[in-house]
Amino acid sequence: MRHALATIDLGALRRNLQRVRARVGSSRILAVVKADAYGHGLERVVQALRDADGFGVAGLEDARRIRLLERRKGWVARPVVLLSGFDESQDLDTIHRLALDAVIHDSSQVAMLRANPRQWPRCLWIKLDTGMHRLGFALDQLPALQASLAGPGTPVVWMSHLADADGLSTARTERQIRVYFEALGTTPGLRSLANSAAVLRHPQAHLDWVRPGGVLYGLSTVAGQSGSDLGFEPVMRLCSRIVAVRQVPCGGSVGYGEGQTLVRDTRLGVVSIGYGDGYPRHVSGAGGWVWVDGQRAPILGRVSMDLLTVDLTDLPGADIGTDVELWGPQVPAELVAAWAGSISYELTCGVTRRVQFAEHQETSVVHAR
Ligand SMILES: *Cc1c(COP(=O)(O)O)cnc(C)c1O
Repeated sequence: MRHALATIDLGALRRNLQRVRARVGSSRILAVVKADAYGHGLERVVQALRDADGFGVAGLEDARRIRLLERRKGWVARPVVLLSGFDESQDLDTIHRLALDAVIHDSSQVAMLRANPRQWPRCLWIKLDTGMHRLGFALDQLPALQASLAGPGTPVVWMSHLADADGLSTARTERQIRVYFEALGTTPGLRSLANSAAVLRHPQAHLDWVRPGGVLYGLSTVAGQSGSDLGFEPVMRLCSRIVAVRQVPCGGSVGYGEGQTLVRDTRLGVVSIGYGDGYPRHVSGAGGWVWVDGQRAPILGRVSMDLLTVDLTDLPGADIGTDVELWGPQVPAELVAAWAGSISYELTCGVTRRVQFAEHQETSVVHAR
């Protein structure tokens, strides 16, 4: 039996939403739940975040799951925004039927809308490129977009995305914000700019709708700062158990390949989790540790598919069956991500299907998948 388990703290999720609310005043909050709510599970997250003003998803399938959940629970439908827009005219039929909002970022979409005037999204989020150069219209197209899309009847949110709101310097973000305001002037319609980092660091970007993802899950992309450093609670705890313990003499080596040569007589613990569960193999050799029995236990050798090995020499209380935290309240996911050369978002998104999920409201586990 495998022991890898991701527990989702729904209370922490709700409190993180309240923390965002306290920072953004009267701005509405679009809770970003793309990629299965950053790997936390879309339905459970949407249920816990019912107080959000709307939800942002990447694809139609996730939007459909939210509408299904709302119908099953008898809830009033919230705005659901397709953040990547749509790319086929058939999608417009679904978008209209599910009363979705959609991001429009390319003239091919404008053409589809004009060809299907009765199947428009509930609201158009028109995306302007203010310097990120990923998705979005060039700013000189704004008057034409205003004329062709922003007619009476269909509400419009003029949005843009910030490329460096979590960066060390604020210069690039300040330039994007300035460019955005100058381009829009007094153009009618709502405004939206802020991702998580801008919610925290650029209040002048809060405007009508903020679009936080990471901070709701207690995750951070700000260099050198974990979600808890920023005042948010980690929502996912990834844990497993020790399944074997052995004594290996000094000079022995651990695991695949050259492994790691032991510099002292070592009590090794084998933990039932590996890259097949989403714990990054790149952590191997990076000086990482896990949390065991109230202490740090260094990772030894390479992370393999199903297992990893830790040093229990200084943890005599740890034995077969002892709980091991890979990331969560005691081990910031940002730290694990730094060892692996990644960001915490990629870790939580990358937890694989064989990992069990459980959720708890406050302290008691109420449901497992
Ligand atoms: C993913 C995404 C966000 C959320 O970003 P975070 O860094 O997780 O807050 C906001 N807006 C858009 C358009 C996105 O695609």
